[in-house]
Amino acid sequence: MATAIESDTVQGRQPSIPQTRPEDKPQRLPLGPLKNVHVFWLAGMSCDGCTVAVAGATNPGIEGLLTGTIPTMPKVILHHPVLSVEAGSDFINPFKDAWNGKLEDPYVVVCEGSVADERIAARTGGYFSAMGSEVLSEGGDACPVPSAAWLSRLAPGAAATIAIGTCATWGGIPSAEGNPTGAMSCMDFLGRDYRSAFGLPVINIPGCAPVGDNFTETVFAILLFLQGLGPLPPFDELGRPAWLFTETVHRGCNRAGYYEEGLFAHHYGDPECLVEIGCWGPVVNCNIVKRGAINHMGGCMEAGGVCIACTMPGFPDKFSPFYKAPPGGIISTTASRGLGGVIRRLRRLSNHHANREVRWDVLNDVPSGWGDLVGSSIGLKTMEYFYKKWQFWGAKRPGRPKGQEDRFWGVDRPGFSSDYIDDSSAMEDPDVRH
Ligand code: SF4
Repeated sequence: MATAIESDTVQGRQPSIPQTRPEDKPQRLPLGPLKNVHVFWLAGMSCDGCTVAVAGATNPGIEGLLTGTIPTMPKVILHHPVLSVEAGSDFINPFKDAWNGKLEDPYVVVCEGSVADERIAARTGGYFSAMGSEVLSEGGDACPVPSAAWLSRLAPGAAATIAIGTCATWGGIPSAEGNPTGAMSCMDFLGRDYRSAFGLPVINIPGCAPVGDNFTETVFAILLFLQGLGPLPPFDELGRPAWLFTETVHRGCNRAGYYEEGLFAHHYGDPECLVEIGCWGPVVNCNIVKRGAINHMGGCMEAGGVCIACTMPGFPDKFSPFYKAPPGGIISTTASRGLGGVIRRLRRLSNHHANREVRWDVLNDVPSGWGDLVGSSIGLKTMEYFYKKWQFWGAKRPGRPKGQEDRFWGVDRPGFSSDYIDDSSAMEDPDVRH
């Protein structure tokens, strides 16, 4: 199994170096029904933003899973470096039990933050990120255990390994050009041949921070699979949940209509498409605008910000400098300006036509107290005439078939202005009013 980590010299009192490859632990876990599932949350080079995002998830939220109150779902026993109330050996022992195969229930590994190349830190006797400590040699001092070592130990026996956030999925900001840590993604660390106990490669849920609901929804789908109640959810060729990350931001953006009509924002706060002030949405796989950041609210373009491609494997280097128009955007925005200008004007005419009742067209009068609205001009009426001809060409128009109107309406058939003038009140006898 190939990984980016090669063995290196370890000196006394240094933290243990992660294995050169995940430990072999051929294990097949039974499909459900499961009562409990442990989740071991490992934090590497992370800002804890993913934890905050998941804690705020609402659809579904994590409360039901943690309390075991969701029908058909196993109870999730979360071992989390920030959220768990246990500390010291009480906290670390379940990790050791999972590593040693002593857990009675299956477990899932969640990896937040990128995986540092601990060989670099070890050369100076330090470490980049670690959790717990252990004595490496008899009589020796306790040394910190790098998060990378825990990942290497736990990933092979896990029912699934889930990388959450762009640091864990693709390396993210800690692995940006010039970084001193050699940080890399879970996939890069575990290698192409990694498979979980259920035969799954690393599942990737990117975002900086990710949408919390994307994570909880995927976990629910995986748990349903583990319970034997649903199929394995579909993942794309990079291990992303396919139903969440197949489409681009642009396709779900509430400003895409402006792009199509060739209207672009020049300043933050403008309502139009933001591509000319740095939005990468047309080439970024993410559902943030459709789903919102939390509880279907917010999301980058919804809140007026450009897409800086934080869900993408090339983030951040391939999308910098931020807030500068992407070079490829100039071609498409130029084309969009030309074609979109024509389409926009034609749509404005159709929009004017659609904003009028049929009755108002017949009377050529709009009885609105809100504005001085005039009916259609002769030119517009002519266009509307041909537009309607085209609209109903080969199709049935609303109303009675031509030539049969009199059979139903007599002389008062609709379609003439006199039909719409209600003079009944004028004929009313004022004396019978009460
Ligand atoms: Fe597309 Fe970005 Fe414009 Fe939205 S703001 S329409 S994602 S380019």
